[in-house]
Amino acid sequence: MNIKENLDTIGLHIKEACSRTNRQADDVHVIAVTKYVSDETTRKAIKAGVEHIGENRAEAGLLKKKAINEQATWHFIGSLQSRKVKQVIHEFDYFHSLDRVSLAKEFQKQAEDGQTINCFVQVNVSGEESKAGVHPDELLSFINQLEAFPAVRVLGLMTMAPYTERPEETRPVFSGLRKLRDEVMSLHLPHAPCTQLSMGMSNDYVVAIEEGATFIRIGTALVGNEATSN
Ligand SMILES: *Cc1c(COP(=O)(O)O)cnc(C)c1O
Repeated sequence: MNIKENLDTIGLHIKEACSRTNRQADDVHVIAVTKYVSDETTRKAIKAGVEHIGENRAEAGLLKKKAINEQATWHFIGSLQSRKVKQVIHEFDYFHSLDRVSLAKEFQKQAEDGQTINCFVQVNVSGEESKAGVHPDELLSFINQLEAFPAVRVLGLMTMAPYTERPEETRPVFSGLRKLRDEVMSLHLPHAPCTQLSMGMSNDYVVAIEEGATFIRIGTALVGNEATSN
């Protein structure tokens, strides 16, 4: 696994996708998802130039962050149990899976005075039963309810597309999330600027960028998967 080479390849794909769609490549941030790799590999990724690290488990993510002790921006990308908020709230910089009022309430409870919790609201655009996230029809009402929790700031929306061998098939999911983002953004809500889109993984990030992704979350194609030894 040559992380530097992978990062360069992804950078090239970002550039190409942005020039096809008249976007600035600088607006697309790469989160290296390190949930299947060691501390050592994660450290290598940071040394290779990765600035954003994504973890989906509270305990494992915290242990890794402590072990690595390198400068990076940490993203919590997995589903988060309310009882674990206390452990992670001061350790991660972004939370990608705000999907229920009870979680916002716990963020509010555990936040320090004046602390802002940077969140993405996870939306289940594809409607797959196995996927977490707010139903698109309930998004506006959900975001309105979040106004009651001043620590919570909705920076954007996040989704996961169903896995497919043909990434082109994911396009409606990503364009659907972008339309929802535009709708929320146009309301100019102080607690929900909602300018960002967290979407796109190893197999579908190019399509996600074409549809407006500002944070792509890449594991396998960037740092590999040491759990399956590839
Ligand atoms: C694991 C994971 C990713 C990265 O998946 P890859 O297909 O390995 O790139 C992205 N987002 C979330 C929420 C994940 O859990």
